Amino acid sequence: MKILAFAEQREGKFKKSAFEVTQTAKGIADKLGAELTVLVIGNNIEGILPELGAYGASRVIAAQDARLQFYSTTAYAKITAEVVQKEQASVLFFPASQMGKDLAPRIAAKLSAGMAADCTTLKVEAGEIIATRPVYAGKAMLDVKVVSPIKIFTLRPNVFTAIAKDSSPVTIEKFTSQLTDTDFSAKVTAVKVAEGRPDVTEAGIIVSGGRGMKGPEHFNLIEKLADVLGGAVGASRAVIDAGWRPHDEQVGQTGKTVSPTLYIACGISGAIQHIAGMSSSKYIVAINKDKDAPIFQIADYGIVGDVFDVLPPLTEELKKALGK
Ligand SMILES: Cc1cc2nc3c(=O)[nH]c(=O)nc-3n(C[C@H](O)[C@H](O)[C@H](O)COP(=O)(O)OP(=O)(O)OC[C@H]3O[C@@H](n4cnc5c(N)ncnc54)[C@H](O)[C@@H]3O)c2cc1C
Repeated sequence: MKILAFAEQREGKFKKSAFEVTQTAKGIADKLGAELTVLVIGNNIEGILPELGAYGASRVIAAQDARLQFYSTTAYAKITAEVVQKEQASVLFFPASQMGKDLAPRIAAKLSAGMAADCTTLKVEAGEIIATRPVYAGKAMLDVKVVSPIKIFTLRPNVFTAIAKDSSPVTIEKFTSQLTDTDFSAKVTAVKVAEGRPDVTEAGIIVSGGRGMKGPEHFNLIEKLADVLGGAVGASRAVIDAGWRPHDEQVGQTGKTVSPTLYIACGISGAIQHIAGMSSSKYIVAINKDKDAPIFQIADYGIVGDVFDVLPPLTEELKKALGK
């Protein structure tokens, strides 16, 4: 059996999810007695490929082309499908990142493969991969066995571990696809990277504000706490719809799915659509003046209080504790 893991990089740097997918795929490959190959697509990527050795990769296929500097749905899908066919891989792993969510379903359609999306746990039972994934906006967890000949799994970022071990040598093979203009029918022409705080999908800590913050002018309290903790700023949809914060900070069913180690929800009620996007956070802290707010049902730690009374001293104490 052959397993292919897709390692996402952007601008010559691996995303953390690349290591999570590689290490998870290696664990599954070992349990199944399968061979693992990791696929990396992009431009100027040679230098980073050996990094995958620390996460269990021993063979990497690199598809490199100047036209692949930015992600291209159609070109990436073509290359990946070609590599799967050439390698005769029957199990594929992708991150459930923005890129993976766009790419994996296309590969599934191209190869008539069944897919389990946004998995939060994987195990092997009687030689079969069993994936657990949230359904009904996180209200239930479903165990899924994919029965098609080619099986695809996308892994929720930040849920699976990626711990660098002693690096083993990595064999690197080049793959060249005959790309034409039609393979770039949709083209990214420029990427503007937001400066400052990390993106909510990649942050280990998120401080998130809801309608209880009362107005955009009070989000400086959220920003200060996020900066002390080195975290990202998130928001509920009510806040985004009111135009208080930019859209890319929205957490939830119609926003981003996040799984940080620590999620601090400030003045957020805990509507099911918000919880759908953050319930897999490791530790959830809720600050809300209503002791019956639904967010407390999923919080590990709850502070019943007014955000305007709680946030300033909390930030000050953390500053002292962290020596900042
Ligand atoms: C199809 C659909 C998709 C949706 N997608 C999303 C989504 O992706 N993300 C999302 O977040 N929502 C989403 N929603 C909206 C969701 O249903 C809620 O309306 C929204 O999450 C509420 O945001 P909130 O918690 O900030 O506001 P509210 O529900 O108004 O809650 C504000 C909270 O702040 C508390 N509060 C008020 N003042 C203070 C204070 N001074 N100190 C402390 N606490 C205070 C209140 O007790 C209350 O609990 C979606 C809805 C639909 C129908």
